[in-house]
Amino acid sequence: MELYQLNERVYYSAYEEERDRPAIGYIRGDRFSIAIDAGHSEEHLREFYDALKEKDLPLPELTILTHWHWDHTFAMHAVNGLTLANRRTDEYLRRFIEERSEEKDKEFLKLDPSITREYAHQKLTVVPADLVFENEITVDAGGILVKAFRAVSPHTDDATLILLPEEKVLFFGDAISGVFPTWIADPVLKRQFIKVIEGVDCEFCIGGHWPLWKKEDLLKELKEELAEA
Ligand SMILES: [Zn+2]
Repeated sequence: MELYQLNERVYYSAYEEERDRPAIGYIRGDRFSIAIDAGHSEEHLREFYDALKEKDLPLPELTILTHWHWDHTFAMHAVNGLTLANRRTDEYLRRFIEERSEEKDKEFLKLDPSITREYAHQKLTVVPADLVFENEITVDAGGILVKAFRAVSPHTDDATLILLPEEKVLFFGDAISGVFPTWIADPVLKRQFIKVIEGVDCEFCIGGHWPLWKKEDLLKELKEELAEA
């Protein structure tokens, strides 16, 4: 798995459409490291950890989730250290766990061909978050601050954005998308989301299923999409 370095402290992995594997973010603190999202499955996560080891980077002690969707969270059971999610994300995960049955699992694995492919040789394991925050939380990883906060999004109602104020980098998960599986975005939510991004002091934006964006290019794209909708 390719691991890209944005600056001294910030990395992110390649994303893959075939098995719906999002990019996983990585923040190198002096005291500990943080990952953004856990990944689609244990196999996905292991490949990410192998890429870190190859570059002599310590495994993350904390994994912050951008939203509850399977491709970002279903590797949580296998992470090094602890996971952190907002209350809503944790509720979604707990509901999924509560409602699990053999039949439901089968349904889930057929939900999309990318899920079927990812889980062809793996078992499904879903766990809730270790740590939960309400609206926002700031973590000092040593030499770098990491601010996670809830935000409105046209993708889900449990979006967490993660800002590195000193590095001027924002991780947004899938928050720019419409709703799975139609990808239709509510224009009101999308407009509100654009306002949020406009108000964030960042230079680069990193999402789950896109190449690196410059903030101005991302805003331009979102506004064009909105005008065409
Ligand atoms: Zn998603």
